[in-house]
Amino acid sequence: MLTKQEIVDKALELGFEDVGFASAEPFAEHKKLLEEKQGEYGWAEALGLKLLKGTDPANSLPGAKSIVVLLENYYKQGFPRWMEGHFGRCYLDDDRVTKDGLSRKIKEFRKFFSEHEIDTKVPFNLPHRAAAARAGLGTFGKNCLLYANRVARGSSFVLPVAVVVDTEFEPDNSTIEYGCPDWCRNACIAACPTRALKGNGTIDPQKCISYLTYLQEDITPLELREPMGINIFGCDRCQEVCPRNAPWFAQDLPLNPKVTAKEEDFELSKLLHMDREYFEKRIWPHMFYISPDDLWKWKMNVARAIGNTCDRGFVPELIKAFRENEDYRVKGMIAWSLGKLGGKEAESFLRDCRSDSSGLVREEIDRALEGEYDKQSLQKGA
Ligand code: SF4
Ligand code: SF4
Repeated sequence: MLTKQEIVDKALELGFEDVGFASAEPFAEHKKLLEEKQGEYGWAEALGLKLLKGTDPANSLPGAKSIVVLLENYYKQGFPRWMEGHFGRCYLDDDRVTKDGLSRKIKEFRKFFSEHEIDTKVPFNLPHRAAAARAGLGTFGKNCLLYANRVARGSSFVLPVAVVVDTEFEPDNSTIEYGCPDWCRNACIAACPTRALKGNGTIDPQKCISYLTYLQEDITPLELREPMGINIFGCDRCQEVCPRNAPWFAQDLPLNPKVTAKEEDFELSKLLHMDREYFEKRIWPHMFYISPDDLWKWKMNVARAIGNTCDRGFVPELIKAFRENEDYRVKGMIAWSLGKLGGKEAESFLRDCRSDSSGLVREEIDRALEGEYDKQSLQKGA
């Protein structure tokens, strides 16, 4: 019979930061919350994420007895600074498609169980953070993230991996609670640019920039374009302002070689002009939530991010992208960005292409020329 200590040793040997044990009881509270908030989470069910089903581990593994929860620190190595400004850190070294990092470790861990005739499942839809708190690995923040109890300097840069097993292990003491210090004045809630955090430890996921960058179905509403800032895929703002993460941020981390190797592929101008082949080969395997059929979302996000860089050096790139794109959402956002960046070159281009444009693109051009986004932009000249 495999002991808990042997399991812990194996997990640490494979490079996981921490490991804990929880019962495989259904996550009744989580289920209730999801049911009450179908208005906010219904989209996830519609997308086939089956979050409600995931609240009972037995739906994934009949005969489920325990959950062994692993903690992976996904920010152990740093990323190029400019990339951290545009992409959520948890996506920068995401190997769920390439299977060349965390996936290998999970596979090895499961193999270890099967060698001891223990059946396992790693359900994607199980409430991983709740499982980690149940296993005593962390507490919640008011930004709805999990903060480690014993590792990663107590930060939120940990990814829980819940392994459901058909053998019973004694559960660890749970820490299902908020761990935020009294003196924190809810920095995360105040800093959330789109007001997604509701102040009671809950979030409206459809207002979160992470959702907005990959699941929006039309051109980003005007009022969200500035708040979404330079984020292109994901957002880390509520983690960056959190004092619980300050100890981790205080370190000089070695750069992640896998991410630096693909750094050039993610340059904004390359993303703005990429074709389907480039996207499928170089981008999608690392950030896969947006399908190649929705390449317009990437380009629109990049155009909006560029508009928020305050860097007029991008104007020629935007003009080139406007000419090479057919999608009205991309063209509309480029017009917005040109208006936002301002300058004579942007203004002259918008005036030139106005008469050949129609519908939403024409409206965006007119608004840009009227300087509605930034009263000072186009008038600033230069
Ligand atoms: S990730 Fe960004 S948008 Fe989402 S809750 Fe945090 S700060 Fe708000
Ligand atoms: S910013 Fe403050 S309230 Fe928000 S998660 Fe961090 S400690 Fe908690």
